[in-house]
Amino acid sequence: MDNVISFLETENQAQKEVSYYYGINQSIAALSAIRIGGIADLIISPTSEAALVRLLQFISKLRVRYRIVGNFSNLLFSDKGFRGALIRTELLASLSGDGTTVLASAGVSLSRLCKYARAHSITGFEELFGIPGSVGGAVYMNAGAFETKVSDLLESACILDTNTFSKRTLTPRELSFATRDSLLQHRSDLILLSAKFVGKEGRSDLIEQKMRDVILRRRKTQPLELPSLGSIFRRPVGSYAGRLIEEAGLKGARVGGAAISQKHAGFIVNLENATAADVLELIRLTRVRVKEVFGIDLVCEIEYISEA
Ligand SMILES: Cc1cc2nc3c(=O)[nH]c(=O)nc-3n(C[C@H](O)[C@H](O)[C@H](O)COP(=O)(O)OP(=O)(O)OC[C@H]3O[C@@H](n4cnc5c(N)ncnc54)[C@H](O)[C@@H]3O)c2cc1C
Repeated sequence: MDNVISFLETENQAQKEVSYYYGINQSIAALSAIRIGGIADLIISPTSEAALVRLLQFISKLRVRYRIVGNFSNLLFSDKGFRGALIRTELLASLSGDGTTVLASAGVSLSRLCKYARAHSITGFEELFGIPGSVGGAVYMNAGAFETKVSDLLESACILDTNTFSKRTLTPRELSFATRDSLLQHRSDLILLSAKFVGKEGRSDLIEQKMRDVILRRRKTQPLELPSLGSIFRRPVGSYAGRLIEEAGLKGARVGGAAISQKHAGFIVNLENATAADVLELIRLTRVRVKEVFGIDLVCEIEYISEA
């Protein structure tokens, strides 16, 4: 990691437009939505798109292991941490619009995007309000809630191809969106830099009302008072993972500090000092039980990131 750290120091001294915040031996748990994860060798937040591209060029040349991270809301990190560099997009936060079009950098939170749309009387985004992800993570996952998913609103995405370090604009068709799936999940060499969304002209009072309803529905049905990663499993065809888990009698089931939520059986919550090992074991037990009772294989929606 020493050469990456010297690179960051040199860049920070040399150029004002290209700079980085970074931390050595940082706790992942402190950042993760489920408050789990060991120590990462290095966590870097580039302050601009240009800084991200320069960092990726440097890191790729050295073949340093890295992972792009948005808001840590769909990732379960190992208790042993992460050997390599986690590159956060949090400071890539520019947001602008033209008519009903909104252009957002990778690190913009979905909630900020929704509030921007509300402020400009653009409708269509309301049901995404409250999903705790960034634009990059949301396009990667084709995140969605109720009747809306990211792919319904996306017009195009600006992608960095880390093989050639060229930028490309991809259409929704080229991004191969499917349920909680996109091309980005199958091409770790592609990094989303920004995305262009389009909604429809709306009335801000109605948009406001809908966003409020969405948040109330979330609070009523989801254990938002406890750390979690949202739904652990993908929705199986013709059913809901939460319903199957509940009907298999697993609500409240506990391994160490992790438990199947009493409020929403699709969520695993961190009750107290849960470890990644606890969560993984609970996932394993749940899959075995649901398979026994219903003959259905639950597939994880969250991603586990190993130490090395
Ligand atoms: C309480 C709670 C409720 C939730 N509710 C919902 C919901 O209603 N609907 C839903 O769909 N999800 C939900 N989620 C899950 C999660 O918020 C989404 O999957 C979200 O899209 C993840 O975004 P993120 O920025 O946190 O991504 P991260 O968890 O940081 O990363 C997820 C993946 O995206 C990749 N990635 C991130 N940024 C980029 C980029 N710029 N370029 C390329 N790859 C990138 C990462 O490498 C990683 O593989 C919920 C989670 C929680 C904790």
